[in-house]
Amino acid sequence: MVARVIPVEPFDLVIFGATGDLARRKILPALCRRYAEGQMPPEGRIIGAARTELSREDFHTMVSEAFDEFLGASAPDAALRAEFFERLDYITIDALGDDGWSDLSGRLRDDVVRAFYFSVGPSLFGPLATGLGRFGLVTPETRIVVEKPFGNDLETARALNQTLAAHFNETQIYRIDHYLGKETVQNLMAVRFANILFEPLWNARFVDHVQITVAETVGVGGRGAYYDKSGAMRDMVQNHMMQLLCLIAMEPPYSFEPDAVRDEKLKVIHALDPVEPRQVVRGQYGGGADTASYAEEVETPDSNTESYIALKVGISNWRWKGTPFYLRTGKRLRARTSEIAVTFRDPPHSIFGEDAPWKANILVIRLQPDEGMTLKVMIKEPGPGGMRLKDVALDMSFADALGEDMHIPDAYERLIMDVIRGNQTLFMRGDEVEAAWAWTDPIIAAWQKTADTPKPYDPGSSGPDEALKLIHLDGRSWREIR
Ligand code: NAP
Repeated sequence: MVARVIPVEPFDLVIFGATGDLARRKILPALCRRYAEGQMPPEGRIIGAARTELSREDFHTMVSEAFDEFLGASAPDAALRAEFFERLDYITIDALGDDGWSDLSGRLRDDVVRAFYFSVGPSLFGPLATGLGRFGLVTPETRIVVEKPFGNDLETARALNQTLAAHFNETQIYRIDHYLGKETVQNLMAVRFANILFEPLWNARFVDHVQITVAETVGVGGRGAYYDKSGAMRDMVQNHMMQLLCLIAMEPPYSFEPDAVRDEKLKVIHALDPVEPRQVVRGQYGGGADTASYAEEVETPDSNTESYIALKVGISNWRWKGTPFYLRTGKRLRARTSEIAVTFRDPPHSIFGEDAPWKANILVIRLQPDEGMTLKVMIKEPGPGGMRLKDVALDMSFADALGEDMHIPDAYERLIMDVIRGNQTLFMRGDEVEAAWAWTDPIIAAWQKTADTPKPYDPGSSGPDEALKLIHLDGRSWREIR
């Protein structure tokens, strides 16, 4: 199956932090891919910007090496690279200095969409916004893309929102949460709102509970210094998992317009119950036969930061009161998997007798690996041996359903094109981010107050035993991480 590609309008995109990991690994490969597919028009221009002094050719060499390193067999061929590089420039600029800005201004066109991608550390988000304003680079058609983390708590998020608002309207600010760019996450909205099947059942009367799992096998690696100040709660729950929860729990928006969707997500965040300390389990991985412990990796022997967190979250509204949402995420776990599992309640009465082997219907939405969906249903086991029941999985892998040739775009491909198109649906609004922090901050404050220490867990396990108890106490169990 070949996806329909509609080219976006011509644009100038400046990537601040173009020599950094994210730009080389994700942003530039995503743009090259969109160019190859014909979505980035030939009139599109990209300017990489960072402090390192590089010629245009040096920068092309750096990007070419990144393509080889990160795209492997799907790296663009020489002809495509040459075409793409014709549209790729580089400028030396220090976000904190005065040099380079007027040179940058001279390279930008006035009659096309202008986007500035802040792919730099969060301490530079404010100075960059101020620099763009101070040097007169903001036109009505200008957008900024702001990476995560957006603040470290409510206070810092609010301050950053205010700094950005001094130079940009909310409609010009694209706060990225790359989870929202994943095909399956968008598909969640299609499943819920383009089918009649699920919506009547999508509430506390029929849904027993929801599990959201984001498990990684890797440790903190080179991000140790950043991660140790953040932890799983700030790094994953406040943003990515919160977004997933919102998409599962929100009311149907009146349209797919950005603010219609974001209004509904915001209502979910406002309806989240405060989380008691007994509803949270924090963990930290220990060392393995050939892997370092978390504390060794971050070089802080007494680190109190969690590399794992599990929470039980309640939502106080008519739709969800009484249906818990269990969230867990962690590093160095058994497998790399992200999924949302909606477990339905048992039917009110079994006509097959009390002893029928009953298994709940579960809708599993897999975000990775092998994006797709599974619906667990009960059927009669084939054969003449009477009415024996069995649960089977109606399985849909997107790769199978859409054909092997169908390229599932990386989240950044979709999101950057949305920036150029001016579509903010998959980006977080300022009030949404603040509301998420307002819910998160007291949870963090509570464990800081009680000097809670993370529970140790073995690398390659499913997390600390205490997390099993968290859900077992409710008579439920986690789905296996595999
Ligand atoms: P990184 O590898 O440390 O790159 C930072 C970039 O910023 C470099 O290009 C650096 O180049 C540039 N820079 C630093 N100081 C500068 C200054 N004063 N003026 C202009 N440029 C400056 O970081 P990263 O991993 O790419 O992450 C970038 C942002 O994306 C961060 O906010 C991060 O939290 C977020 N993010 C990253 C990932 C990821 O997978 N890497 C994932 C999600 C979010 P020079 O030293 O040459 O100036």
